[in-house]
Order: sequence, then structure tokens, then C-alpha cells
Amino acid sequence: MNNNEIINQIKSELDIADVIGERVKLRKSARGYMGLCPFHSEDTPSLHVYTDTQSYYCFGCHEAGDVFSYVMKTEGLSFPEALRVLSDRAGVRLPEAGHRGTDIRGVLDLAAKFFSSNLTGPQGAAARAYMSRRSLTGSDITRYGLGYSLPSWDSLTNYLRRSGVNDRMIVDSGLAVANRNGLYDRFRGRLMFPIHDVTGKVIAFGGRLVDGEGAKYINSPEGPTYSKRNNLYLLDTARHSIRDKKRSILTEGYMDALRLSKCGFPETVASLGTSLTAEQAGLLSRYADMCYICYDSDTAGQEAAIKGMYILASHGLDVYVVSLPGESKDPDEFLCANPPEAFENALTEAKPLVIKHLEFLKPRLDDQRTRRSALSELFGALRTLDIDDVLRHKGSISYATLLPSEAIEQYIISGRPPKTKPRPQKPASFVIKSADLGYDILEAAMCALLFKNRECRLKFTLEDAEKLLHSDITFETAAAILSSNPEDLYTLWRTSGDDDKLAMIYNGEELLRRMLRMDVEEKFSRTYCRLMWKSINRRIKEIQSMPFDDRDYKELSRLYKEREHYHL
Ligand SMILES: [Zn+2]
Repeated sequence: MNNNEIINQIKSELDIADVIGERVKLRKSARGYMGLCPFHSEDTPSLHVYTDTQSYYCFGCHEAGDVFSYVMKTEGLSFPEALRVLSDRAGVRLPEAGHRGTDIRGVLDLAAKFFSSNLTGPQGAAARAYMSRRSLTGSDITRYGLGYSLPSWDSLTNYLRRSGVNDRMIVDSGLAVANRNGLYDRFRGRLMFPIHDVTGKVIAFGGRLVDGEGAKYINSPEGPTYSKRNNLYLLDTARHSIRDKKRSILTEGYMDALRLSKCGFPETVASLGTSLTAEQAGLLSRYADMCYICYDSDTAGQEAAIKGMYILASHGLDVYVVSLPGESKDPDEFLCANPPEAFENALTEAKPLVIKHLEFLKPRLDDQRTRRSALSELFGALRTLDIDDVLRHKGSISYATLLPSEAIEQYIISGRPPKTKPRPQKPASFVIKSADLGYDILEAAMCALLFKNRECRLKFTLEDAEKLLHSDITFETAAAILSSNPEDLYTLWRTSGDDDKLAMIYNGEELLRRMLRMDVEEKFSRTYCRLMWKSINRRIKEIQSMPFDDRDYKELSRLYKEREHYHL
């Protein structure tokens, strides 16, 4: 079967009305059913489900599609993930590479069941005692699929062999290790945490030592079904809560995530390795933009941890760092000693990543010997963020670095760390000039927008250019773009050696690239507003610098009013 045939077969096995009807109350209509639309909020039904074409359409918000797009949109799944969910539901087997992925998932499922029955059975007494010491209950076993690997070298391997799994599959699934004498179980005497992919399939295990000696935690190795960078512990169940609450909470360990989830924070997930990845940022941002990071108190301030948080932030998440008050070293411990409200308070007091980073760097910023490296670390990190997110914290950055706020803005916009040695005692004497580049980088961004986008050219006039672009190079470039064809210009500049115009446009593009969450239209209006603001400011300063009698107060008040209009 090819892909299309599989999709068609799944569609023919399922009824879209059943799938939608699971969450949406449907009532019969002429061509099928109707109900309250899950894509927008409404009191009267405008979602129509057509059984003849197996499709849906909302007359309110115009969402439309088939059973695949419905599951992708409502569950926040990618197409391959939706395919897996729906193929399971339809009982259609997917042709994965040699069935290997599917078979390994089957083995992991068997293992999860085996571990669970160990935990509830007579051999699980030690693990259950450990659980009760950690205030975990019987219902957590079912809810989180917990299990117990027996303190034996081959109980799981033998069980899997008896169930017809061959040795190679057992090794490939990461559950056993091969040596000269054969196979031995990887997990022995551990409380087992199954790790699921976003669709809820077991893809790996983490194991916490219950008694005796050995590493506190061990995990499945990466393999055909499991890669740490692409998954988050508990995401399969947390994703609905993350969407409802519009925030995620990220912890380091399984126990932390499980504890939070249990104590009324089901929007919690745990990272599965030490460093956070772009893929994990992508997974989280599917459901909500806000992410609260709650690490162990000794990790949260580490350089590596902060770097990881910047990875999340640079992929569009609003990152807040939670500090736990008191003695507790991790969220698990904190919630064993404090009520959930105390944790909610800690969330309210969480600090934006930039602020947390400033606090972390403060001692180094204040010491002349380390100041330079701290500044370059700070500005290097800020450069990866959305420019608006950084500008929001301009005041705090200025306060912590003892640099004047204009200098901060210039660094942030141009991305250049300070060249001159700053003198913290006299901050006002240290001002970075935009003369570094010879033009204002915002003006370059406008040129880049005009150069690349026809719709921007239609919205920008020569008059705008005269008013907003103050250096020769940006004005001339914009004027040329507005009066001719960018492709011709490109060739002309290239061949006539006018490379500095192209270099200027390139610098402007760099800035635009950092407006992470914006489309071209937004980038244009942001840049336009900021230039207007600057231009009006310039005029205000001009008037203010005039002798008292000559000042035009009427114009001043008009300018103040006009400037408000462009405030971001
Ligand atoms: Zn709708």
C-alpha cells in the first residue's frame, strides 16, 4: 500500500462524526451533524459535519477539513503523529521500515505490562514501600503507568523470550544488554517510569533505583523509537492541559514532573537530557507560548542550564525561571513540604529569563576583571532572542550593566558588544554611536523590507523615506528601490561595486530575522513605527534645544501626542 491508499483506507474505516463526536456534542442535521465549534468559542452551533464527504466546515470561523486535519488541529499533532493515532483507531497497520519500529513498540508495550504487574504483585513489596515513602499511591501506578523491574539479571529477558520475542529485538528495544554470556536485563530493582511519545505510545523507560547500590537513575539508550531531543516526559498527557492553561512547566526529573502533575499542575513535562533542544521548544510551542522552567535549585543558575533556556526562548517561547523559596532543592521536595498554592505563588514570582540571567551575571559584571567576558556573554545570548523581548528589559539591562539605556538599545539592535571599555562610575560618559555602521540599523531593516517585498514597497513612499531615513546610504538605497526594479538593482550594485548597499541591506535582514514571531506585515509596521518614533523624538529634541523664547510649545505638544501613536 502506498501512502494515499493507507490514508484512504483509514478514512473508510473511520466515521468522522464518531471522531469529532468524542469531544463535541453533535446533533443530527440535513447532511450530517452540527455542534459547537472547537476552533472558536460560540453559544450556537456553527460546526457542520458532513458524513457524505467525511468533512467538516465551520460557518463561524471557516475552519474546514477532513478527519486528519481535525485530529492534527485539535490534538496539536504533526501529520505522521495523527496518522499513527488514526491508524491505530482504524486498525490499519502502517508499513514502517521492515516493521522494526512497530515491533519494537510492541516489545516496549509488553515490557511496560510486565513491569506494572511486578509492581502490583507479591514481588513488588519493596518498590511499593519506596513509593509510599515518596507519597505515591496505587492510583499513580495506573495514571502514570509506573512499574517495577525485579532485582534479577534475566526476569524481563526470559519473560520476553517466552512471549516469542527474539534476542535481537530485545537488545534493539534497549531493555537488555548483550555480553559474552548472553543477555542481561538493563533495568534491575528499579521503579520504572515509561516514557511515551506525544501520541501516548511507550518509547523508552527511565528507572529509579529502589534499594541498594548503583546509579540513582538510568534510562533507555536512544534507538529506533527513542531520541531524547525529540521527546518530553509526560507530554502525551500534559499537552491538553498546556493548551487549556496556556502555559507549560518544565522540570529536570521524572519525579519532579510526576509530583507537579499529581499536585494540580498537569501542564508539567520533564526534559529527558541535560540540554534542551530546538525540537523540544517546537513541541512545547505547539500548545502554548509560555514556559515556566523549574529546575533543581543548584542547576537553575548554572551556565549550561541558562544556555538551554535561551534555546527555548530563541525558538519563540516566553521563558520564565521559577525559584523555589525555602530549603527545598527540587520541585518534588518542595511539594512534599508545601501546599500547591505555595507553588502557584512561586510561578507568579517567576522571573523572565533575561532578568534571571542578569542576576546570575551580576557578580561578574560588577568585577572589573570579569566584566568584559560577562558583557559579551550577555549580549551574545540576547542576540539570539526576539528583539522586542529584549527591548522590554532595556531598563533592567541598563541597571545591571551600568550602561546607559541608549547604549543598550544600540547594542541590542546592532548586536555589537561594547568596543570601548565602559566606565561604570560614570555611565553617562559611555555612549555607543550608531556611527559604528554609518547608519541606523533600523533604517537598514526598512531598506531590506523594501528590497525583498513588493507589498512593503506599495506601503512606503518617497516622502516616508525623506522623513524616516536619515543617512545618505539608507535614503539613496530606498529611493532607488522605490523607483526601479530590485532585481535590476541587485545586478547593478553587484557589477558597479556598490557592495556597501547590499551589505547594508544584509545587516538590516539580520535584524529582521530576529523578529521571531512576526510575518512580513508585522515586521514592516514595527519597523515603520519605531522609525517614526525616533524621527519624532529627534524633532522634539531639536525644539527643546532651542532657546526658551523660540521654542514652539504648540508643535511640541502636537509632537508628544503624535509620538504616543507610534509607541510600541
Ligand atoms: Zn469555528
